[in-house]
Amino acid sequence: MRKINEECGIIGIFGQKKQNVAQMTYYGLHALQHRGQEGCGIAVNDDGVYKLHKNTGLVTEVFDVRTLESLGEGNIAVGHARYGTAGSKGAVNCQPIVVNHVKGNLCVALNGTLVNYAELRSELELEGAMFHTTSDAEIIAYVITRERIKSKSIEEAVNRAMGLLEGAFSLVIATSTKVLAVRDKFGFRPLCYGVTDDGTYIVASETCALDVLGAKFIADVTPGEIVLFNKQGVQNIKDNCGKVQECPCVFEYVYFARPDSVVDGSSVHEARKRAGRFLAMEHKVEADVVIGCPDSGIDGAIGYAEQSGIPYGLGFLKNKYIGRTFIQPEQGMREKAVRMKLNVIKETVAGKRVVLIDDSIVRGTTSVYVVKLLREAGAKEVHMRVTSPKFIGACYYGTDIDSPDKLIANKHTTEEIAEIIGVDSLGFLSIDSVKKIPSNYACHNYCISCFTAEYPTKKPDLQGKSKFESKITKNV
Ligand code: SF4
Repeated sequence: MRKINEECGIIGIFGQKKQNVAQMTYYGLHALQHRGQEGCGIAVNDDGVYKLHKNTGLVTEVFDVRTLESLGEGNIAVGHARYGTAGSKGAVNCQPIVVNHVKGNLCVALNGTLVNYAELRSELELEGAMFHTTSDAEIIAYVITRERIKSKSIEEAVNRAMGLLEGAFSLVIATSTKVLAVRDKFGFRPLCYGVTDDGTYIVASETCALDVLGAKFIADVTPGEIVLFNKQGVQNIKDNCGKVQECPCVFEYVYFARPDSVVDGSSVHEARKRAGRFLAMEHKVEADVVIGCPDSGIDGAIGYAEQSGIPYGLGFLKNKYIGRTFIQPEQGMREKAVRMKLNVIKETVAGKRVVLIDDSIVRGTTSVYVVKLLREAGAKEVHMRVTSPKFIGACYYGTDIDSPDKLIANKHTTEEIAEIIGVDSLGFLSIDSVKKIPSNYACHNYCISCFTAEYPTKKPDLQGKSKFESKITKNV
Protein backbone atom coordinates (compact mmCIF):
# COMPACT_ATOMS: atom_id res chain seq x y z
CA MET A 1 0.00 0.00 0.00
CA ARG A 2 2.87 2.34 0.67
CA LYS A 3 3.49 3.77 -2.77
CA ILE A 4 6.76 5.55 -2.16
CA ASN A 5 9.37 4.96 0.46
CA GLU A 6 11.59 7.31 2.32
CA GLU A 7 15.05 6.00 2.90
CA CYS A 8 15.60 6.44 6.58
CA GLY A 9 15.11 8.16 9.88
CA ILE A 10 18.13 9.06 11.98
CA ILE A 11 18.71 10.02 15.58
CA GLY A 12 21.72 11.02 17.68
CA ILE A 13 22.04 11.58 21.42
CA PHE A 14 24.70 13.42 23.38
CA GLY A 15 24.29 13.32 27.17
CA GLN A 16 26.38 15.11 29.77
CA LYS A 17 26.51 11.92 31.81
CA LYS A 18 26.17 8.18 31.38
CA GLN A 19 22.56 7.13 31.01
CA ASN A 20 20.32 4.68 29.24
CA VAL A 21 20.85 6.22 25.80
CA ALA A 22 19.98 2.92 24.08
CA GLN A 23 16.44 3.06 25.39
CA MET A 24 16.12 6.76 24.49
CA THR A 25 17.27 5.97 20.95
CA TYR A 26 14.81 3.08 20.77
CA TYR A 27 11.91 5.41 21.60
CA GLY A 28 13.17 8.02 19.15
CA LEU A 29 13.50 5.44 16.37
CA HIS A 30 10.02 4.20 17.10
CA ALA A 31 8.74 7.74 16.43
CA LEU A 32 10.67 7.74 13.14
CA GLN A 33 9.57 4.26 12.05
CA HIS A 34 7.41 5.69 9.23
CA ARG A 35 10.63 6.79 7.49
CA GLY A 36 11.97 3.25 7.12
CA GLN A 37 10.61 -0.17 8.04
CA GLU A 38 13.15 -2.50 6.54
CA GLY A 39 15.86 -2.47 9.16
CA CYS A 40 17.23 -0.53 12.08
CA GLY A 41 20.17 -0.22 14.40
CA ILE A 42 21.48 1.44 17.54
CA ALA A 43 25.10 2.11 18.47
CA VAL A 44 26.05 3.18 22.00
CA ASN A 45 29.40 4.65 23.00
CA ASP A 46 30.66 3.92 26.47
CA ASP A 47 34.16 5.04 27.44
CA GLY A 48 35.40 5.15 23.87
CA VAL A 49 33.99 1.81 22.70
CA TYR A 50 30.96 1.41 20.45
CA LYS A 51 28.49 -1.38 21.00
CA LEU A 52 26.21 -1.95 18.01
CA HIS A 53 23.10 -3.95 17.29
CA LYS A 54 21.36 -3.82 13.92
CA ASN A 55 19.24 -6.09 11.79
CA THR A 56 16.37 -6.20 9.34
CA GLY A 57 12.91 -5.61 10.79
CA LEU A 58 10.88 -3.03 12.64
CA VAL A 59 12.28 -1.36 15.75
CA THR A 60 10.07 -3.53 17.96
CA GLU A 61 11.23 -6.68 16.14
CA VAL A 62 14.96 -5.95 16.17
CA PHE A 63 15.17 -4.76 19.78
CA ASP A 64 13.89 -6.34 22.96
CA VAL A 65 14.78 -5.75 26.60
CA ARG A 66 17.75 -8.09 26.36
CA THR A 67 19.30 -6.46 23.28
CA LEU A 68 18.78 -2.99 24.71
CA GLU A 69 20.38 -4.04 28.00
CA SER A 70 23.31 -5.57 26.14
CA LEU A 71 24.03 -2.17 24.57
CA GLY A 72 24.54 -0.86 28.10
CA GLU A 73 24.70 2.72 29.30
CA GLY A 74 26.68 5.51 27.70
CA ASN A 75 26.52 9.21 26.96
CA ILE A 76 26.45 8.97 23.15
CA ALA A 77 24.13 6.97 20.89
CA VAL A 78 23.25 6.88 17.21
CA GLY A 79 20.15 5.24 15.76
CA HIS A 80 18.88 4.48 12.30
CA ALA A 81 15.62 3.22 10.75
CA ARG A 82 16.08 2.15 7.19
CA TYR A 83 14.26 1.63 3.97
CA GLY A 84 16.54 0.07 1.34
CA THR A 85 16.18 0.24 -2.40
CA ALA A 86 15.99 -2.97 -4.41
CA GLY A 87 19.35 -4.67 -4.75
CA SER A 88 20.67 -3.36 -1.46
CA LYS A 89 18.40 -5.09 1.01
CA GLY A 90 19.55 -7.18 3.95
CA ALA A 91 21.15 -6.84 7.35
CA VAL A 92 24.52 -6.08 5.81
CA ASN A 93 23.31 -2.65 4.70
CA CYS A 94 21.66 -1.70 7.99
CA GLN A 95 23.08 1.27 9.85
CA PRO A 96 24.70 2.86 11.84
CA ILE A 97 28.13 2.15 10.38
CA VAL A 98 30.97 2.09 12.93
CA VAL A 99 34.57 2.59 11.79
CA ASN A 100 37.67 2.31 14.00
CA HIS A 101 40.69 4.20 12.72
CA VAL A 102 44.12 5.28 13.86
CA LYS A 103 42.79 8.45 15.53
CA GLY A 104 39.71 6.94 17.19
CA ASN A 105 36.32 5.85 15.98
CA LEU A 106 33.39 7.08 13.99
CA CYS A 107 29.73 6.16 13.90
CA VAL A 108 27.58 7.30 10.96
CA ALA A 109 23.84 7.24 10.25
CA LEU A 110 22.55 8.62 6.96
CA ASN A 111 19.26 9.78 5.51
CA GLY A 112 19.77 10.45 1.83
CA THR A 113 21.53 9.24 -1.29
CA LEU A 114 24.83 10.28 -2.84
CA VAL A 115 24.71 11.12 -6.54
CA ASN A 116 28.47 10.52 -6.83
CA TYR A 117 28.49 7.09 -5.14
CA ALA A 118 30.02 5.24 -8.12
CA GLU A 119 32.86 7.76 -8.58
CA LEU A 120 33.71 7.89 -4.88
CA ARG A 121 33.60 4.12 -4.46
CA SER A 122 35.87 3.53 -7.47
CA GLU A 123 38.29 6.15 -6.17
CA LEU A 124 38.33 4.67 -2.66
CA GLU A 125 38.71 1.09 -3.90
CA LEU A 126 41.68 2.13 -6.04
CA GLU A 127 43.21 3.62 -2.89
CA GLY A 128 42.84 0.25 -1.19
CA ALA A 129 39.59 0.71 0.75
CA MET A 130 37.58 -2.45 1.37
CA PHE A 131 33.80 -2.34 1.51
CA HIS A 132 31.42 -4.67 3.28
CA THR A 133 28.17 -3.06 2.13
CA THR A 134 26.67 -1.09 -0.73
CA SER A 135 25.40 1.54 1.67
CA ASP A 136 26.10 5.18 0.88
CA ALA A 137 26.77 5.57 4.61
CA GLU A 138 29.85 3.37 4.34
CA ILE A 139 31.24 5.59 1.55
CA ILE A 140 30.60 8.64 3.73
CA ALA A 141 32.28 6.96 6.73
CA TYR A 142 35.36 6.21 4.59
CA VAL A 143 35.55 9.71 3.08
CA ILE A 144 35.31 11.29 6.54
CA THR A 145 37.86 8.84 8.00
CA ARG A 146 40.28 9.62 5.16
CA GLU A 147 39.89 13.34 5.85
CA ARG A 148 40.13 12.75 9.61
CA ILE A 149 43.62 11.26 9.22
CA LYS A 150 44.71 14.59 7.68
CA SER A 151 42.74 16.89 10.01
CA LYS A 152 43.11 18.18 13.54
CA SER A 153 39.51 17.46 14.51
CA ILE A 154 36.43 15.54 13.40
CA GLU A 155 34.62 18.80 12.63
CA GLU A 156 37.42 19.85 10.30
CA ALA A 157 37.32 16.42 8.63
CA VAL A 158 33.54 16.55 8.15
CA ASN A 159 33.79 20.09 6.82
CA ARG A 160 36.30 18.92 4.21
CA ALA A 161 34.30 15.79 3.38
CA MET A 162 31.24 17.91 2.63
CA GLY A 163 33.07 19.33 -0.37
CA LEU A 164 33.54 15.80 -1.74
CA LEU A 165 30.09 14.36 -1.13
CA GLU A 166 27.41 15.22 -3.68
CA GLY A 167 23.68 14.65 -3.34
CA ALA A 168 21.31 14.37 -0.42
CA PHE A 169 22.72 13.64 3.00
CA SER A 170 21.41 14.41 6.42
CA LEU A 171 23.81 12.77 8.83
CA VAL A 172 24.37 11.99 12.47
CA ILE A 173 28.07 11.41 13.06
CA ALA A 174 29.53 10.52 16.45
CA THR A 175 32.98 9.92 17.88
CA SER A 176 33.69 8.96 21.49
CA THR A 177 33.40 12.56 22.67
CA LYS A 178 31.26 14.42 20.14
CA VAL A 179 28.07 14.18 18.13
CA LEU A 180 27.70 16.08 14.85
CA ALA A 181 24.52 16.82 12.91
CA VAL A 182 25.18 17.52 9.23
CA ARG A 183 22.89 18.53 6.37
CA ASP A 184 23.93 18.78 2.72
CA LYS A 185 24.03 22.25 1.20
CA PHE A 186 20.70 21.72 -0.60
CA GLY A 187 19.02 20.54 2.61
CA PHE A 188 17.03 17.84 0.79
CA ARG A 189 16.21 15.77 3.87
CA PRO A 190 15.18 17.30 7.20
CA LEU A 191 17.24 17.34 10.40
CA CYS A 192 16.63 19.15 13.67
CA TYR A 193 17.85 19.19 17.26
CA GLY A 194 16.66 19.88 20.74
CA VAL A 195 17.58 19.50 24.39
CA THR A 196 15.99 17.78 27.38
CA ASP A 197 15.67 19.35 30.84
CA ASP A 198 18.83 17.56 32.02
CA GLY A 199 20.90 18.96 29.15
CA THR A 200 20.89 15.89 26.87
CA TYR A 201 21.02 16.92 23.21
CA ILE A 202 18.90 15.04 20.69
CA VAL A 203 19.36 15.22 16.91
CA ALA A 204 16.56 13.72 14.81
CA SER A 205 15.09 13.60 11.32
CA GLU A 206 11.82 15.00 12.62
CA THR A 207 10.53 16.92 15.62
CA CYS A 208 8.14 14.07 16.51
CA ALA A 209 11.18 12.17 17.85
CA LEU A 210 12.15 15.17 20.01
CA ASP A 211 8.59 15.30 21.36
CA VAL A 212 8.64 11.62 22.32
CA LEU A 213 11.88 12.12 24.27
CA GLY A 214 10.63 15.26 26.00
CA ALA A 215 13.26 17.41 24.27
CA LYS A 216 12.65 21.08 23.61
CA PHE A 217 13.20 22.00 19.96
CA ILE A 218 16.23 24.29 19.46
CA ALA A 219 16.58 24.61 15.68
CA ASP A 220 16.61 22.91 12.31
CA VAL A 221 20.07 22.17 10.97
CA THR A 222 20.30 24.63 8.08
CA PRO A 223 21.39 23.44 4.61
CA GLY A 224 25.19 23.10 4.59
CA GLU A 225 25.50 23.41 8.36
CA ILE A 226 27.43 21.24 10.83
CA VAL A 227 26.15 21.37 14.41
CA LEU A 228 28.58 20.03 16.99
CA PHE A 229 27.53 18.76 20.43
CA ASN A 230 30.10 18.10 23.12
CA LYS A 231 30.72 18.76 26.84
CA GLN A 232 31.14 22.48 26.07
CA GLY A 233 27.65 22.70 24.53
CA VAL A 234 26.62 23.43 20.94
CA GLN A 235 28.73 24.90 18.15
CA ASN A 236 27.37 25.84 14.71
CA ILE A 237 29.76 25.59 11.75
CA LYS A 238 28.37 27.29 8.66
CA ASP A 239 31.33 27.21 6.23
CA ASN A 240 29.34 25.16 3.68
CA CYS A 241 26.12 27.15 4.04
CA GLY A 242 24.82 29.36 1.23
CA LYS A 243 27.00 27.73 -1.43
CA VAL A 244 24.01 26.82 -3.60
CA GLN A 245 20.34 27.65 -3.57
CA GLU A 246 18.86 25.46 -0.82
CA CYS A 247 16.33 22.90 -1.94
CA PRO A 248 14.50 21.01 0.85
CA CYS A 249 12.12 18.28 -0.33
CA VAL A 250 8.55 19.57 -0.64
CA PHE A 251 7.26 16.00 -0.64
CA GLU A 252 8.19 15.70 3.05
CA TYR A 253 5.11 17.87 3.68
CA VAL A 254 2.88 15.97 1.27
CA TYR A 255 3.71 12.45 2.35
CA PHE A 256 6.97 11.48 4.06
CA ALA A 257 6.98 13.33 7.37
CA ARG A 258 4.60 12.67 10.24
CA PRO A 259 1.77 15.21 10.47
CA ASP A 260 2.71 16.06 14.07
CA SER A 261 6.22 17.12 12.96
CA VAL A 262 7.33 20.64 12.15
CA VAL A 263 9.85 20.62 9.30
CA ASP A 264 11.99 23.71 8.63
CA GLY A 265 9.54 25.84 10.56
CA SER A 266 6.33 24.60 8.89
CA SER A 267 3.79 22.23 10.43
CA VAL A 268 3.31 19.16 8.26
CA HIS A 269 -0.35 18.86 9.28
CA GLU A 270 -1.00 22.51 8.33
CA ALA A 271 0.87 22.09 5.04
CA ARG A 272 -1.32 19.11 4.11
CA LYS A 273 -4.45 21.06 4.98
CA ARG A 274 -3.25 23.94 2.81
CA ALA A 275 -2.68 21.49 -0.04
CA GLY A 276 -6.32 20.44 0.36
CA ARG A 277 -7.48 24.06 0.37
CA PHE A 278 -5.49 24.85 -2.79
CA LEU A 279 -6.95 21.77 -4.45
CA ALA A 280 -10.48 22.92 -3.59
CA MET A 281 -9.74 26.24 -5.31
CA GLU A 282 -8.06 24.68 -8.35
CA HIS A 283 -10.38 21.71 -8.87
CA LYS A 284 -13.91 22.49 -7.68
CA VAL A 285 -16.62 19.87 -7.89
CA GLU A 286 -20.24 19.43 -6.75
CA ALA A 287 -20.22 16.66 -4.14
CA ASP A 288 -21.78 15.43 -0.88
CA VAL A 289 -18.75 14.34 1.15
CA VAL A 290 -14.95 14.68 1.20
CA ILE A 291 -12.92 11.69 2.40
CA GLY A 292 -9.16 11.14 2.71
CA CYS A 293 -7.15 8.07 1.83
CA PRO A 294 -5.27 7.14 5.06
CA ASP A 295 -2.96 8.34 6.33
CA SER A 296 -1.57 11.31 4.44
CA GLY A 297 -4.78 12.07 2.50
CA ILE A 298 -6.75 12.77 5.71
CA ASP A 299 -5.32 16.23 6.47
CA GLY A 300 -5.75 17.23 2.82
CA ALA A 301 -9.38 16.10 2.95
CA ILE A 302 -9.98 18.29 6.00
CA GLY A 303 -8.50 21.25 4.14
CA TYR A 304 -10.55 20.55 1.00
CA ALA A 305 -13.72 20.31 3.10
CA GLU A 306 -12.97 23.57 4.95
CA GLN A 307 -12.37 25.46 1.71
CA SER A 308 -15.20 23.96 -0.36
CA GLY A 309 -17.87 23.80 2.33
CA ILE A 310 -18.51 20.13 1.45
CA PRO A 311 -18.67 18.12 4.71
CA TYR A 312 -15.70 15.96 5.71
CA GLY A 313 -16.43 12.30 6.43
CA LEU A 314 -14.42 9.34 7.63
CA GLY A 315 -14.36 7.16 4.54
CA PHE A 316 -11.88 4.44 5.43
CA LEU A 317 -10.73 2.48 8.39
CA LYS A 318 -7.13 1.37 8.22
CA ASN A 319 -6.07 -1.85 9.90
CA LYS A 320 -3.05 -0.71 11.90
CA TYR A 321 -2.07 -4.22 12.96
CA ILE A 322 -0.74 -5.50 9.65
CA GLY A 323 3.00 -5.42 10.19
CA ARG A 324 5.89 -6.04 7.85
CA THR A 325 5.92 -9.72 8.75
CA PHE A 326 2.26 -10.27 7.83
CA ILE A 327 2.11 -12.98 5.16
CA GLN A 328 1.18 -11.04 2.05
CA PRO A 329 -1.29 -12.57 -0.40
CA GLU A 330 0.32 -14.21 -3.39
CA GLN A 331 0.95 -12.26 -6.54
CA GLY A 332 -2.27 -11.52 -8.37
CA MET A 333 -4.05 -11.03 -5.06
CA ARG A 334 -3.11 -7.38 -4.64
CA GLU A 335 -6.74 -6.47 -4.25
CA LYS A 336 -7.00 -8.67 -1.16
CA ALA A 337 -3.93 -6.95 0.29
CA VAL A 338 -5.63 -3.58 -0.11
CA ARG A 339 -8.85 -4.89 1.42
CA MET A 340 -7.00 -6.26 4.43
CA LYS A 341 -5.42 -2.92 5.06
CA LEU A 342 -8.28 -0.63 4.21
CA ASN A 343 -12.01 -0.98 4.69
CA VAL A 344 -14.65 1.48 3.57
CA ILE A 345 -17.10 2.96 6.06
CA LYS A 346 -20.12 2.38 3.86
CA GLU A 347 -22.42 4.77 5.73
CA THR A 348 -20.12 7.67 4.75
CA VAL A 349 -20.11 7.00 1.01
CA ALA A 350 -23.17 4.94 0.01
CA GLY A 351 -25.36 6.82 -2.48
CA LYS A 352 -23.11 9.89 -2.28
CA ARG A 353 -20.99 11.95 -4.64
CA VAL A 354 -17.56 11.49 -3.03
CA VAL A 355 -14.43 13.62 -3.26
CA LEU A 356 -11.49 11.30 -2.55
CA ILE A 357 -8.25 13.00 -1.49
CA ASP A 358 -4.95 11.14 -1.86
CA ASP A 359 -1.36 12.34 -1.64
CA SER A 360 -0.07 11.04 -4.98
CA ILE A 361 -0.52 8.69 -7.90
CA VAL A 362 2.63 6.78 -8.84
CA ARG A 363 1.75 3.80 -11.07
CA GLY A 364 -1.98 4.08 -10.43
CA THR A 365 -2.43 0.46 -9.34
CA THR A 366 -3.32 1.26 -5.72
CA SER A 367 -5.78 3.96 -6.81
CA VAL A 368 -7.64 1.44 -9.01
CA TYR A 369 -8.32 -0.76 -5.97
CA VAL A 370 -9.20 2.08 -3.63
CA VAL A 371 -11.72 3.50 -6.12
CA LYS A 372 -13.16 0.01 -6.68
CA LEU A 373 -13.69 -0.32 -2.91
CA LEU A 374 -15.64 2.96 -2.90
CA ARG A 375 -17.79 1.91 -5.86
CA GLU A 376 -18.57 -1.43 -4.25
CA ALA A 377 -19.58 0.38 -1.07
CA GLY A 378 -22.18 2.29 -3.10
CA ALA A 379 -20.48 5.61 -3.90
CA LYS A 380 -22.54 7.30 -6.66
CA GLU A 381 -19.65 9.36 -8.04
CA VAL A 382 -15.94 9.39 -7.16
CA HIS A 383 -13.94 12.56 -7.82
CA MET A 384 -10.29 12.11 -7.00
CA ARG A 385 -8.12 15.06 -5.98
CA VAL A 386 -4.39 14.64 -5.43
CA THR A 387 -2.40 16.83 -3.04
CA SER A 388 0.69 16.78 -5.25
CA PRO A 389 1.38 17.42 -8.94
CA LYS A 390 1.93 14.58 -11.39
CA PHE A 391 5.13 12.57 -10.93
CA ILE A 392 7.12 12.73 -14.13
CA GLY A 393 10.69 12.30 -12.85
CA ALA A 394 12.59 9.93 -10.57
CA CYS A 395 13.91 11.12 -7.22
CA TYR A 396 17.67 10.81 -6.68
CA TYR A 397 17.63 12.29 -3.20
CA GLY A 398 16.86 9.53 -0.75
CA THR A 399 13.49 8.15 -1.84
CA ASP A 400 12.43 5.44 -4.26
CA ILE A 401 10.04 7.31 -6.54
CA ASP A 402 9.91 5.01 -9.52
CA SER A 403 11.85 5.30 -12.74
CA PRO A 404 10.11 7.66 -15.20
CA ASP A 405 8.95 4.87 -17.54
CA LYS A 406 6.87 3.36 -14.72
CA LEU A 407 5.14 6.61 -13.72
CA ILE A 408 1.58 6.64 -15.02
CA ALA A 409 1.64 10.41 -15.66
CA ASN A 410 4.46 9.95 -18.15
CA LYS A 411 2.31 7.75 -20.33
CA HIS A 412 -1.17 9.20 -19.95
CA THR A 413 -3.06 12.48 -19.79
CA THR A 414 -5.11 13.39 -16.71
CA GLU A 415 -8.29 12.28 -18.51
CA GLU A 416 -6.74 8.94 -19.45
CA ILE A 417 -5.54 8.36 -15.88
CA ALA A 418 -9.07 9.15 -14.63
CA GLU A 419 -10.42 6.50 -16.95
CA ILE A 420 -7.79 3.93 -15.96
CA ILE A 421 -8.39 4.31 -12.22
CA GLY A 422 -12.16 4.56 -12.70
CA VAL A 423 -12.99 8.00 -11.30
CA ASP A 424 -15.54 10.51 -12.60
CA SER A 425 -13.00 13.34 -12.46
CA LEU A 426 -9.40 13.81 -11.43
CA GLY A 427 -7.36 16.85 -10.42
CA PHE A 428 -3.72 17.24 -9.36
CA LEU A 429 -2.34 20.11 -7.30
CA SER A 430 -0.46 22.59 -9.48
CA ILE A 431 3.31 23.00 -9.25
CA ASP A 432 2.84 26.65 -8.21
CA SER A 433 0.64 25.62 -5.29
CA VAL A 434 2.72 22.70 -4.03
CA LYS A 435 5.62 25.11 -3.51
CA LYS A 436 3.35 27.17 -1.26
CA ILE A 437 2.02 24.47 1.04
CA PRO A 438 4.65 24.96 3.80
CA SER A 439 3.53 27.98 5.82
CA ASN A 440 6.93 29.67 5.52
CA TYR A 441 7.27 28.96 1.80
CA ALA A 442 8.57 32.45 1.17
CA CYS A 443 11.76 31.56 3.13
CA HIS A 444 12.67 28.47 1.10
CA ASN A 445 13.22 27.30 -2.43
CA TYR A 446 11.76 23.78 -2.30
CA CYS A 447 12.82 20.80 -4.36
CA ILE A 448 10.08 19.84 -6.85
CA SER A 449 12.28 17.78 -9.18
CA CYS A 450 10.03 14.70 -9.33
CA PHE A 451 7.27 16.96 -10.70
CA THR A 452 9.46 18.78 -13.24
CA ALA A 453 12.26 16.28 -14.06
CA GLU A 454 14.71 19.16 -13.64
CA TYR A 455 17.39 18.51 -11.06
CA PRO A 456 19.57 20.79 -8.93
CA THR A 457 22.47 18.30 -8.99
CA LYS A 458 23.96 16.03 -11.61
CA LYS A 459 22.13 12.71 -12.01
CA PRO A 460 23.72 9.65 -10.39
CA ASP A 461 25.45 6.93 -12.38
CA LEU A 462 22.91 4.22 -11.50
CA GLN A 463 24.51 1.62 -13.72
CA GLY A 464 27.87 2.27 -12.08
CA LYS A 465 26.30 1.80 -8.66
CA SER A 466 24.51 -1.42 -9.61
CA LYS A 467 27.88 -2.94 -10.60
CA PHE A 468 28.96 -2.62 -6.96
CA GLU A 469 25.62 -3.94 -5.71
CA SER A 470 26.01 -7.13 -7.73
CA LYS A 471 29.34 -7.80 -5.99
CA ILE A 472 28.04 -7.72 -2.43
CA THR A 473 28.50 -10.84 -0.29
CA LYS A 474 25.13 -12.20 0.70
CA ASN A 475 24.62 -13.42 4.27
CA VAL A 476 22.39 -16.49 4.08
S1 SF4 B 1 12.71 14.83 -6.24
FE1 SF4 B 1 10.69 14.93 -5.21
S2 SF4 B 1 10.80 13.43 -3.53
FE2 SF4 B 1 12.90 13.79 -4.26
S3 SF4 B 1 13.71 15.38 -2.90
FE3 SF4 B 1 12.85 16.43 -4.69
S4 SF4 B 1 10.69 16.88 -4.16
FE4 SF4 B 1 11.49 15.36 -2.71
